[in-house]
Amino acid sequence: MYRIIGYLSFVLFFMSGEVHSQQVDSERLLADLKYLASETLEGRKPLSQGSLMSREFIRDRFKELQLTSQYEDYTQFFDFVSSRGGVQTSYEGAANIIGFIPGALSEKIIVVMAHYDHLGKINDQVFLGADDNASGTAAVLALAEYFSTNRPQHSMLFALVDAEEMGHHGSKALVQDFPFPMEQVALCINMDMVSRSDDNVLWAVGTNRYPQLKPLIEPFTKDQPVQLKMGHDNKELDGLQDWTFSSDHAAFHRKGVPFIYFGVDDHEDYHKVTDTFENIQPEFFVNAVNLILKTLISMDEKL
Ligand SMILES: [Zn+2]
Repeated sequence: MYRIIGYLSFVLFFMSGEVHSQQVDSERLLADLKYLASETLEGRKPLSQGSLMSREFIRDRFKELQLTSQYEDYTQFFDFVSSRGGVQTSYEGAANIIGFIPGALSEKIIVVMAHYDHLGKINDQVFLGADDNASGTAAVLALAEYFSTNRPQHSMLFALVDAEEMGHHGSKALVQDFPFPMEQVALCINMDMVSRSDDNVLWAVGTNRYPQLKPLIEPFTKDQPVQLKMGHDNKELDGLQDWTFSSDHAAFHRKGVPFIYFGVDDHEDYHKVTDTFENIQPEFFVNAVNLILKTLISMDEKL
C-alpha cells in the first residue's frame, strides 16, 4: 500500500510539475506590456521614434532567445500607402520583426503573430494602446521564450507586424514576401487585444471557417481560468459580428491558411487615450496567455 501511495504521489508530483511547466513567465509578460504601453514608446505609430524603439526591443529579445530569422537583423522592411479620408500618405521603411524556431519533427510552419503598432500621437494626445496591442506583442514574446526552450514539433515563425491600424499593411507585406511556400504554413495564430475582459471571456475565432480546428480548440473551452469561446466568424450561425477580416489573420485567411484569432470583445477604452497599462486586467491577461500557450502546445502536437 505504501508503495502504491508512494508511486501515486510521485506520478501526481510529476504531473503537476508537467502542468506547471506549461506556463509563460508572467512577471516578464506584464513588464513587457507595461514597457510597450509606456509614454516612452509614444503609442508606437509606424516610423515614429517610439516605433523604432519598439523594433529594437523586440529584436533584442529575439537575439536573447537565440531565435534565427530569414531576414537580416530580424527585420522585413516594407513601404505602404495609407489612404484615410481621401488623403493618401506614403510611408517608407515600416518594419515587421520576424523570429524563427525550426521544428523538431515537421517542415510545416505555425505562424504566431501580433501587431506591435498603435495610433501614436494625434493632436497632442498619445494613444498608448496597452490592450491594442501591447498585449498581443508581449504575448508573442512570452510564447517565443517558452518555445525557445521547449522545442516545438512544427517550425514556428514569430511575427510582430507593423501598420495594422492603418490597414493591416504589415501582415499584407508578410504574406506577399513570405520566406517559405505558403502551402508550408499549417496554421496562423493571431493575437490582438488579449489583456482584459469584464466577463472573463477570450474568443477563439476561425473554427467555423476551418472546422478541422474545432476539435483542437474544444478541450480548452471548459474548466479553464478564462472562458474560451469559439465564434465571431459566422454571423448567420451565432448572430455575432464577423471578425474574420478584423485584424492581421485576414491576410493569411485570404491565402487559404487556417487561422485562430484570439481576442476579447471591444471595450470602453478601445482606441481611446484610456487604453493604458492601468486599465488592463493583469490576472486575466496572464490566464489568457497561459491558455493560448496550452492550446498552441496541443495544436503543435495534433496538427
Ligand atoms: Zn489591434
